[in-house]
Amino acid sequence: MPGTLTIAVSKGRILKEAAPLLAQAGIELHDDPQTSRKLILETSRPGVKVVVIRATDVPTYVQYGAAELGIAGKDVLMEHGGEGLYEPLDLRIARCRLMVAGRPGARPHGRRLRVATKYVESTRRYFADQGRQVEIIKLYGSMELAPLVGLADLIVDLVDTGNTLRANGLEPLEHIADISSRLIVNKAAMKMKHDRIVEFVARLRAAVEKREAA
Ligand code: AMP
Repeated sequence: MPGTLTIAVSKGRILKEAAPLLAQAGIELHDDPQTSRKLILETSRPGVKVVVIRATDVPTYVQYGAAELGIAGKDVLMEHGGEGLYEPLDLRIARCRLMVAGRPGARPHGRRLRVATKYVESTRRYFADQGRQVEIIKLYGSMELAPLVGLADLIVDLVDTGNTLRANGLEPLEHIADISSRLIVNKAAMKMKHDRIVEFVARLRAAVEKREAA
C-alpha cells in the first residue's frame, strides 16, 4: 500500500537498542517486543508496522520488498552482500568488532589452518585479501568451542567485551571490521515511497545524533 511502511528488525539486542531510537523518531511500539509473541507489531504511527524476524533474515525481507526498511548488523549485511539495498544510516547501536580469535601461538602442523565461523563470506574475503589459504568450517553457534575440541585452529566471531573468549581460554588476534546496526532500505521502495522514507530516515538520523550528543 502506498502509505504504509514496514520495518524489519531482529528480536533481542538490536530491537532493544533500536526501540528508543524509533520512539524518538515518533514510532512507539504498542507491544513489548521482548515479551510479545506477535511477529507483526503495530506502532503509534498509522500505517507503520514492525516485523520481528531472525537477524540473518532482515536483509532478505528488505531485498524482496516484504519490508521497505530494516535494521541489521553490519556483520549480517557483509554476509548478505547488500543486493537491492541502500544503507543510508549507521544507528551506532549494538556495536562490537568482527575478529579472528584463537589460542595464542597455536599453529597446525602439515595442514592448512582451519577457521570455524558462521561468517563464511566475510572470513573467506578477509583471508583471501591477504593471500592466506585457509579451510573454512561453517558453524551456526558456539564458535568458541571449536578450537577447544580440535575442530578448528581459529574462529571468526563478534567480540564485545572479550569475556566470552577469555572464559574459554581464547584471545582476540586480528581485527576484521567494526560492527554496528545499520538502517537498510529497499531500492525500489526508495523510489516508490520516496517522501515517506526520506522523512523517516531524517527523523531517525536526528534521533541518532541526539543520542550521540547526550
Ligand atoms: P563478549 O563476551 O562481550 O565479547 O561478547 C561476545 C559474544 O556476544 C559472542 O558470542 C558474540 O557473538 C555476541 N555478541 C557480541 N556483540 C554482539 C552484537 N553486537 N550483536 C550480536 N552478538 C553479539
